[in-house]
Amino acid sequence: MPQLICPLCHQALIERPPQEGVQHSNQVWQCLSNHSFDMAREGYLNLHLVQHKKSKDPGDNPEMVKARRAFLHADYYHPLRDAVVELLDPLHATSLLDIGCGEGYYTSSFRRIIDDVIGLDIAKPAIQLAAKRFKDITWLVGSGVMLPLASASVDIASSMFSPLPIAEMARVLKPEGFVLVVTPAPTHLWTVREGLFDEVQAHEPDKFLAGFDELFTLHTRKEVSFPLTLSNQALKDLLCMTPYVWKAKPEKRAALELLEQFETAAAFTVFLFKKKNSN
Ligand SMILES: [Zn+2]
Repeated sequence: MPQLICPLCHQALIERPPQEGVQHSNQVWQCLSNHSFDMAREGYLNLHLVQHKKSKDPGDNPEMVKARRAFLHADYYHPLRDAVVELLDPLHATSLLDIGCGEGYYTSSFRRIIDDVIGLDIAKPAIQLAAKRFKDITWLVGSGVMLPLASASVDIASSMFSPLPIAEMARVLKPEGFVLVVTPAPTHLWTVREGLFDEVQAHEPDKFLAGFDELFTLHTRKEVSFPLTLSNQALKDLLCMTPYVWKAKPEKRAALELLEQFETAAAFTVFLFKKKNSN
């Protein structure tokens, strides 16, 4: 298990033995400077610091979390999930940190091939759902600004549609570690976006490449695309979980939400970067 570190002073966090005579007391993790963090009843550790918060409840709101869980639970994106598991399997990694893990749909699939899996997300509602459902994963509420892991402690850092704290990912990775990045490909959900906007802009996955140049080399690049036939409910869930819908005209969204069924295609670009040797 990669060493967790204190988000305040960056020293190692150690699980404190239960206090004698106190029944049902929460598990507590503590650093040498006595900063302590309670394990929540649901089984996650909240390492989020108030000074890193932009709002009281940062990250995806409960409605988005619920919609995403419903959509992913219906397994519309299973070809993507299977593709990333297949890509990581030959690396024989023993540990993985999933940054921006949400409610754990992809995180839980990494656990099939990797023993120590840690899911990190700034949104507490998402981590609460994840922790209730998947018990054999370490769940953390926290920010990617400072990843709460010791330097050179983990084999793979993954970020699926999530922030890319590149320098922090390089710091927590072991030498020869890997970063998995998944981002929408140019034509992702093209017909959905045609329904929402007068003019559709292609996604630009390549814009992520330059940022990795200094610390990583590109190991594998793979396009994953597949058709989707969405039920009315699945389309509604998809619209609710997708941030760019906020920019759409409400009447266009409402018109889409009347359709019984909708044909579209998902398209993703998957990158696997390898950490450069620093010496
Ligand atoms: Zn501390």
